[in-house]
Amino acid sequence: MSSVRIVLVNTSHPGNIGAAARAMKNMGLSDLALVDPQDFPSAEATARASGADDLLAAASVSASLEEALRDCTLVIGASARNRTLPVPMLDPRASAALALEQPADSRVALVFGRERTGLTNDELDRCHYLVRIPANPAYPSLNIAAAVQVIAYELRMAADSTLPRQESRHRFATAEEMERFYRHLEETLLAIEFLDADNPRQLMRRLRRLFARARPNQNEVNILRGILTAVVRRCR
Ligand code: SAH
Repeated sequence: MSSVRIVLVNTSHPGNIGAAARAMKNMGLSDLALVDPQDFPSAEATARASGADDLLAAASVSASLEEALRDCTLVIGASARNRTLPVPMLDPRASAALALEQPADSRVALVFGRERTGLTNDELDRCHYLVRIPANPAYPSLNIAAAVQVIAYELRMAADSTLPRQESRHRFATAEEMERFYRHLEETLLAIEFLDADNPRQLMRRLRRLFARARPNQNEVNILRGILTAVVRRCR
């Protein structure tokens, strides 16, 4: 979440900036970038931010979108319209998943356009993807702070459901490594006569379920295989 930046382009109403900051802080986001805001800082923004005025104080203000995006590796533009542009369109859930699966050290920007006219084509050209919040086709344009709220909520949901990252030193075992382990396990269970070749029942399938649930990493599979080798050695 901390690597996600919310960028508001050329916002005309300071109240919307404050409301967007509040929506962000409620969902645990903190990096707010304002591109050429029409009225900022402003008492109206501070009032609407309520307890999120710290985000306004820390917000970066830049003259161009290019400047706000400098250190970002993935840029997703929020658009109410179905643009006739070759930019892949995501829904909010997919965009949140994409943002959170980026490496921890890469910054992701979500860009929101002007209240009246949205994002220009030049600005859209800087986006890798667009995100559109499904809405009433006859009235699809949300208030910008409401749009920020929906996207920030999906980021929150995705972050809360993402499993803790695997220790980077040991990656998950590959299917090939698991198959080698299962063969080793089966040979060992036969050797110690726990498994009966004439009546194997469901034993190996059950063990597969167990290890699939555990999803061991490479190092853990090596430990298990070391144990199997030691067991067979002792039995001889
Ligand atoms: N009339 C403008 C609407 C701008 S609303 C237009 O057609 O583009 C201000 C900003 O809020 C938009 O630029 C967009 O970033 C965001 N927004 C509003 N409704 C949205 C929706 N349904 N999906 C995605 N973003 C939306």
